[in-house]
Amino acid sequence: MSDATGQPINRPTRPAWLEVDLGQLAENFRLIRADAPAGLAIGSVVKDAAYGHGAVEVARVALCQGATCLLVSNLDEAAELRDAGITAPVLLMGERMESELPACLELGLSLAIGNAPAAEGASRLAAALGQALPVHVKIDTGMSRYGARWDAALGLVEKIVALPGLRLDGLFSHFSMSDEMDKSFAHQQISRFRAACSAVERAGLEAGCRHLCNSGGFLDLPQAHLDMVRLGLLPLGVYPSSVCRRIDGIHPVGTLKTRLAAVRDIHRGDNVGYGLHYQAPGERRIGVLPLGYGDGYPRVRNAGHVLVRGKRAPIIGANAMDSTMVDVTGIPEAVAWDEVVLMGQQGECEITAHDLAAWKGTVSYEVLTAWRSRLPRVYLNGGAVH
Ligand SMILES: *Cc1c(COP(=O)(O)O)cnc(C)c1O
Repeated sequence: MSDATGQPINRPTRPAWLEVDLGQLAENFRLIRADAPAGLAIGSVVKDAAYGHGAVEVARVALCQGATCLLVSNLDEAAELRDAGITAPVLLMGERMESELPACLELGLSLAIGNAPAAEGASRLAAALGQALPVHVKIDTGMSRYGARWDAALGLVEKIVALPGLRLDGLFSHFSMSDEMDKSFAHQQISRFRAACSAVERAGLEAGCRHLCNSGGFLDLPQAHLDMVRLGLLPLGVYPSSVCRRIDGIHPVGTLKTRLAAVRDIHRGDNVGYGLHYQAPGERRIGVLPLGYGDGYPRVRNAGHVLVRGKRAPIIGANAMDSTMVDVTGIPEAVAWDEVVLMGQQGECEITAHDLAAWKGTVSYEVLTAWRSRLPRVYLNGGAVH
């Protein structure tokens, strides 16, 4: 555990933490590398603290395993990487306010640019400073989020190439549906992106690095690999959906753990938790976990379970901000301060991010990014303990 200045804190961490296995992360990157065609560059998406796993830690492993660039969503995230001494190329996705541009140049970032005013603003500043700002042109092929529409992308690329202070390094787009059975829209996006890239090449311009795939696209749309793929979820050992292709040996990197803070016996008719959502149907032994929805755990009512002594213990009642009650009647060996797994494996049992997503009514991405910073991160196999 360290404070904001990196000084170690000499007190025990709370008994609820996210364990991040950097050895498994490295193994996942190795397996991805082995699965990928030779020459395909891997970009590591470490936005939102690498989906809660720690941006700097994940970035270091990614770079060690051959990732050629890091991608983030905002300036703070990029600065965190630079502050940690990471000098690898960092591509900032999304749009920037003009006031953010000087810092982007100072940090040596590559910028995503998706419209002419943004290109002009970046050009003015970079040219005034005598710099060549690396630019990846964002092409909208169907998300209607950022970027120039595929049929108007050539105009933007030509403008960027003509402007001083900018260096065209790549063209990219993003799938809106790459991890489901129905790939028809993804195929349409691939054609649109290819058409935009061809138009750029026919105009005699060097497109640079072309990238379109996220984890789902990497797994299931090899025809869209192009020059680089941008992987966030898959290296963390979580698949974007239940239907996408599997790679043998890839396993989750993050395990959410806590301990039984109390074990108690309750009697028939006793109520458990806020809102009277559970009443004991008979003699019951329950465990109290010192974490709740304030840690990013789903707010559930008599749904979901945790792992205690390698067995499943159902959640009873409604969990609170800081506590969650489970039924351990069937696990008589359970005692106070036993380790509990809320996401991950214990013995033969496993609770996946997808299980939690189902209880929360969301997707695995949100389950991972929801783990709050008040849950200490503990790094195994290669990392210091934070
Ligand atoms: C988040 C993000 C990715 C990574 O997606 P995964 O499914 O996590 O691999 C790739 N590209 C863009 C533009 C993103 O925003």
